[in-house]
Amino acid sequence: MTTTTAETRDDHDDGTNPEMATITATTESAPVPMIRLDNVEKSYPYKGGQTWVLRQVKLEIQEGEFVTIMGPSGSGKSTLLSILGMLDGDFGGEYWFDGKPAHGVSNKARARLGKENVGFVFQQFHLLDDLTVAENLDIPLSYRNVPRKERDARVAEMLDRFQIVGKKDLYPPQLSGGQQQQVAVARAVIAEPRIVLADEPTGSLHWKQGEAIMHLLSELNAEGTTIVQVSHDERVAAFGRRVIEIADGWVNADRPTRAPEKP
Ligand code: ADP
Ligand code: MG
Repeated sequence: MTTTTAETRDDHDDGTNPEMATITATTESAPVPMIRLDNVEKSYPYKGGQTWVLRQVKLEIQEGEFVTIMGPSGSGKSTLLSILGMLDGDFGGEYWFDGKPAHGVSNKARARLGKENVGFVFQQFHLLDDLTVAENLDIPLSYRNVPRKERDARVAEMLDRFQIVGKKDLYPPQLSGGQQQQVAVARAVIAEPRIVLADEPTGSLHWKQGEAIMHLLSELNAEGTTIVQVSHDERVAAFGRRVIEIADGWVNADRPTRAPEKP
């Protein structure tokens, strides 16, 4: 299908995105990527100057992809994921989500875009310690207009799916690291976000537990959810199709995943 300029204008008739309209018109039927980063940069002040964490990051991720970000410790993976997840608006360059700007917008507008679209699994879990497991799972549903009965049903389904039914009335500090990680993943996916961003989602798990989480993320991906995860483990990356390698804040490779090694 050829995209005409008129159709493109209709798509963006709120006038927020003239730049994307031009690109869509000139590349014909190329879909607007879910994520497009253009020269994204991040730095912190350091000794009167600045220290760079992300350098000129250019990246496109289409809806439905399953991508793994890999790189050494300190290379900027978590920083990149926070920006993608709309948690950090303090960066240079441009971030377009669904062809809408996520750069240069108010914190409130960015947070709304995040809440509507993103499920985030934090490297340090960020569960609320004074809420039970079931109450933690209910939080993302409380942001949306999901009726009480359905909320309870979805929480029950997640507890079941992650085999943590017996933990539902416990508080996060009463759980092992692995169990907290399972709750963190369940909380990220419960509201059926369009994209799940997961920072080392199996980092605290034994391989068997980690594999179960990865099968679950694969299932969600097969149902159409976009997945972007950070991992050090090529076996974990192999559940997706694409690897973005980052070193010292630079994207230095964008490649297919490697086939898992034969035992
Ligand atoms: P990764 O997740 O790849 O291990 P991060 O994205 O967490 O790396 O961090 C990238 C770099 O940014 C590290 O060198 C880290 O020390 C630095 N960094 C992160 N947060 C801050 C901060 N608040 N102030 C200064 N430097 C920071
Ligand atoms: Mg990290």
